[in-house]
Amino acid sequence: EGGGNMAASGEGAPEGLCGPERPGAGGLALLGLAPSAPSCPHGPALLFVKTSQGKEEGRRFYACSACRDRKDCNFFQWEDEKVSETRLAAREEYNRNHQPPFTHRQNVERYKNFVLLPLSKRRFCQQCQQLLLPAEWEKHSDHQFLCDISTAQLKSPSQLLYPLENKKTNAQYLFAGRSCQFLLDLIIDLGFRRVLSVGTPRLHEMIQSKASQEDFRVRSLLLDIDFRYSQFYTEDEFCHYNMFNHYFFGGEAARETCRKFLYQGSGERVIMVTDPPFGGLVEALASSFKKLMAMWKETEKEDHNQEMPVFWIFPYFFESRILEFFPSFSMMDYQVDYDNHALYKHGKTGRRQSPVRIFTNLTPSMIVLPVEEGYRFCAVCQRYVSSGNQHCEICNSCTSKDGRRWKHCVLCKKCVKPSWFHCNNCNCCALQNHTCEKTDAVCFVCGKADHKRSTCPSLSHT
Ligand code: SAH
Ligand code: ZN
Ligand code: ZN
Ligand code: ZN
Ligand code: ZN
Repeated sequence: EGGGNMAASGEGAPEGLCGPERPGAGGLALLGLAPSAPSCPHGPALLFVKTSQGKEEGRRFYACSACRDRKDCNFFQWEDEKVSETRLAAREEYNRNHQPPFTHRQNVERYKNFVLLPLSKRRFCQQCQQLLLPAEWEKHSDHQFLCDISTAQLKSPSQLLYPLENKKTNAQYLFAGRSCQFLLDLIIDLGFRRVLSVGTPRLHEMIQSKASQEDFRVRSLLLDIDFRYSQFYTEDEFCHYNMFNHYFFGGEAARETCRKFLYQGSGERVIMVTDPPFGGLVEALASSFKKLMAMWKETEKEDHNQEMPVFWIFPYFFESRILEFFPSFSMMDYQVDYDNHALYKHGKTGRRQSPVRIFTNLTPSMIVLPVEEGYRFCAVCQRYVSSGNQHCEICNSCTSKDGRRWKHCVLCKKCVKPSWFHCNNCNCCALQNHTCEKTDAVCFVCGKADHKRSTCPSLSHT
């Protein structure tokens, strides 16, 4: 049986950080969203196949798009499996029962009643992660709750709700205030008036709370799988959405809300900002983002050659994967910091610097990075770079990916991490204490990589 650990492939994960699994080692390949895919509570399942040394192996199967941990959603079905009517009916029933207890509409009504309550009657159940109306106190009497929920608290739900830190499924890493403010200032300076916030509740919340101020004209629509947010936002402000299969839980009405939001009436420019879970499958994300971009494009009657502007926030070691799907994107040097991620906080020196970057299809020179945080403009590259990122005359570019000063290797004909040395066995640069893996894997007889000397086919002749 498959399922389990969906290998996220990305190359060159930094030493010491838990990076994604390396490709090739045997994992799962995503085949995509099939038109006839069965559904789990998280919408249409994705089609996968097990791989070994890059080759498909075994039966294809469907698994949940959103949950990489089978404890969170154990949906599984072979592609060619015959599913009986009874099982189909049971599955539908199961999917219905695994929807949230209140609908978005009900939550909006509840919120209206909640804000009418005096402070002393405003409670939030920490166990159920739910705003409570007085009639419900009884039911939650042995749960932990917060009292006197202020308007300010209601305006920053990302502080009120606990972050879902389940690594494999939700992985909610919230922007540090400084990074969030930087993003918003950048968006405003670039002239955008609307932000499609896909998995960025804290950015959405910053925009929403400023929107009540008079001269602030930016609006945001949050698309997120975390339904707890529906307690704080109306249907025009939040859509329950799965970014791995482009599924709107609210159906056609929610899709229409999104479409309307993307329509740039009266010249209000739109940008999409997304910060997906890092364990996520890049190809699934890319395919959903392409659909959102297509939705934007459909509303654009005039200029057919444009792409919806996007900020995709993701670790730098996914650069080649992202560029594979979006050749028009480039990676900015800005290090995005998080509040609740010890490793991704802005470091003073050395390691402990955030590996998370902004990928964008906007012209790099337009993305002005804060000089007071050590970024500078490289006139040759026409973009802002980290202070440690030196322009390499041979590569003719600022080559560092992680903010440290990289060095050029004449044998590799490229810049490499400062901790690497050229290994003559491997014929490439690597850490000093690496094991020469490739040499082990290469056959001494013919030099091919897929077998060893003992099984070399050329030996069978002699
Ligand atoms: N840094 C961001 C939060 C990023 S954490 C901020 O501070 O605003 C990743 C976000 O993606 C979380 O809000 C999480 O709920 C959401 N998410 C996780 N899986 C998702 C999915 N399948 N579809 C949509 N959103 C998802
Ligand atoms: Zn599921
Ligand atoms: Zn170089
Ligand atoms: Zn080298
Ligand atoms: Zn070596």
